[in-house]
Amino acid sequence: MSTITVPTTTQTKPSGLYRLAARRDPEQRTIVRVGEATFGGGEPTIIAGPCAVENREQTLASALAVRAAGGQLLRGGAFKPRTSPYSFQGLGEEGLAILAEARELTGLPIVTEALEPDQIPIVARYADMIQIGARNMANFPLLRRAGQSGRPILLKRGMSATVEEWLMAAEYILAEGNPNVVLCERGIRSFDPLLRFTLDLNAVPLVRELSHLPIIVDPSHGTGRRSLVRQMSIAAIAAGSDGLIIEMHPDRDAALCDGDQSITPEELTEIVTATRVVGAALSPVWAA
Ligand code: PEP
Ligand code: MN
Repeated sequence: MSTITVPTTTQTKPSGLYRLAARRDPEQRTIVRVGEATFGGGEPTIIAGPCAVENREQTLASALAVRAAGGQLLRGGAFKPRTSPYSFQGLGEEGLAILAEARELTGLPIVTEALEPDQIPIVARYADMIQIGARNMANFPLLRRAGQSGRPILLKRGMSATVEEWLMAAEYILAEGNPNVVLCERGIRSFDPLLRFTLDLNAVPLVRELSHLPIIVDPSHGTGRRSLVRQMSIAAIAAGSDGLIIEMHPDRDAALCDGDQSITPEELTEIVTATRVVGAALSPVWAA
């Protein structure tokens, strides 16, 4: 009688394909520090701000609102990966300078995206944390440069990437000697036209099982609908997320990018409060 060999998976064994990203023992957890903020240190860490840096007033108003709401980092794209070449592409270096001014004003560290390997040095000069977006998760030259940047990296999951492909993308950064990688679940492509993407909250406990890297959730791109952001933020923290990245705009109906999924400053305050309550209630569970 022949026996059937069941293929081994990486669910219980660290894969050699992402040996640095893999969690080797239950105690192993990486904490990534960005300024005063920490990812993976217990309390949920909130990044918020507009999709894109549109102008000085909008960005400074956003930064003040993020600080007032209790958020820890400011987001805003200066180089935007837009689906259409005719959509607003971002202000480029001028946008980076505005972000730096917002940091001066509020003390909030800045997270912003680099689209190309050659943009890494300039983004690293201005930003405290560099975002690699979903569309670039498998841009291996960009990942390598991010690994050489000396900055913490926020690595978003590709919209059609498996969790293992995402961990291997993180491995490219770690293999360059940069240990400061925060993973971000931002929704995967599915079939329901009422949702821009489907937020895969399975990924949160799965990544925590497979990897020691911190993981945060983006409920804005993950839903595409402003009305769902609050509930999915709370659900993400309940699932074990180390934080959130949320799109918030001081005048969202006038936003040049992603207004439909942007929340107001008031809603951000409510979400920060709610996630603190949920995070504190669940911390004994995670510690167990
Ligand atoms: C963004 O954060 O604005 C963005 C473009 O995200 P993603 O790469 O997840 O689409
Ligand atoms: Mn966006």
